[in-house]
Amino acid sequence: MSLKQAHLIDGRAIASELKRTLRDDVAALEAHGVRPGLATMLFEDDYPAEAYERRLRSLASDLGCRYVSETLPRQADEADALATVGKLGADPRINGILILRPLPPQISEAIVYEALDPLKDIEAVHPFNAGLLELGRPRFVPSTPAACFCCLDNYVTSSGRDPAHFYEGTNVVVVGRSANVGRPAVLMALARNATVMSCDEYTSARGKLHEYTERADVLIVAAGAPGLITGEHVSDGVIAIDVGINPVKDGSHTRLVGDLDFDSVREKAAAITPVPGGVGPITQVWLMKNTVFAARLQTLGAEWSAEVV
Ligand code: NAD
Repeated sequence: MSLKQAHLIDGRAIASELKRTLRDDVAALEAHGVRPGLATMLFEDDYPAEAYERRLRSLASDLGCRYVSETLPRQADEADALATVGKLGADPRINGILILRPLPPQISEAIVYEALDPLKDIEAVHPFNAGLLELGRPRFVPSTPAACFCCLDNYVTSSGRDPAHFYEGTNVVVVGRSANVGRPAVLMALARNATVMSCDEYTSARGKLHEYTERADVLIVAAGAPGLITGEHVSDGVIAIDVGINPVKDGSHTRLVGDLDFDSVREKAAAITPVPGGVGPITQVWLMKNTVFAARLQTLGAEWSAEVV
C-alpha cells in the first residue's frame, strides 16, 4: 500500500462535531436551570497534568460549564487527598470529578478512587463504575478509550461499513493495560465481540509483543513508549490507533510523538491516528460529555448511558 492510501483519522474534526452536539446538551440542561460542573484534582509540579487541566478549564468555559481545580502539594498525604475528594463530592455545583494521574507514591490510587462519589466518577475508576464497564453496561465510558472507539467508528463508517458489526471476530490488539486506558479499551473491544489480545511490558520483556501486533486487524497502543511499533510489526491494512503522547527533543524544540513510528506504520495501515491531533482532542470533549451526562443523571435522573459500550 502506498503512503497516500492510508486514511488519516482526523481527531480534531471528530472532536469538533462532538462538541457541537454537546453544546445542544448543555443548552437543554440550562433550560432546566442546570449548569454542569467539572472539578479536577491534581498535584503540583506535574507539567502534563497542569497542561491538561488548563485545556479542560478553557473547554469548560467555552461550553458554559462550571469548572473548579484543586491543586495539592506533592507532599500531601492520603488524608489530604481524601478530604479534597470528599469536599468535591459534597458540593452540589460539581457533577464530575477527574483525578489527574500520576498520584504521588505515598497516596494509594485505589483508596482515593474508592472515596469518589460513584455518580460523579466520570472516568469510571470507582469499583462500582469499573464493574459496570466490566459487565458491558457502563454508566460512564472512560474518555480516552472512548476517544479510541470514536476514531475507529468514524473510519469504519466513512469506509462504508457498520460499526455495530464491524468488530465482530476481528483481532483487536491493545498494547498497554493501565486502569484508565488499556484495560477499559480491552473491555470495550470485548463488548463489541472482537477477539482481543492484551499486551503490556511483560509481553515485551518476553520478546513477544510483535508476534501479537502483527496479527492485529485493529491495533490500539497506549504504552508511553515512543516508536514502540514500526511498520514491520503490523500487517497490511491494519487500523492503527495511537494513544501515546511522548515529548521528544528535536534540536532546541520539544515535539510530541506517539507510540507508533508514524511514517512506517502509515505505509502499511488502512487508517491511522496522528499524534498530536488524533485521540487527544476527542478525549477532552468526551470528558465534558461525561460531565454533562453526570449533571443530567444527578438532577433529572436520566437513564444510564449505553451509547458507546
Ligand atoms: P501507564 O504508564 O499508566 O500505563 C502504560 C502501560 O503500557 C502499562 O500497562 C505498561 O505495562 C505498558 N507498557 C509500557 N511499556 C511497554 C512496552 N515497552 N511494551 C508493551 N507495553 C508497555 O500509562 P497510560 O496512562 O495508560 O498512558 C499511556 C500513554 O498514553 C502515555 O503516553 C500517555 O501520555 C498517553 N495518554 C494519552 C491520552 C490521550 O488522550 N491521547 C490519555 C491518557 C494517556
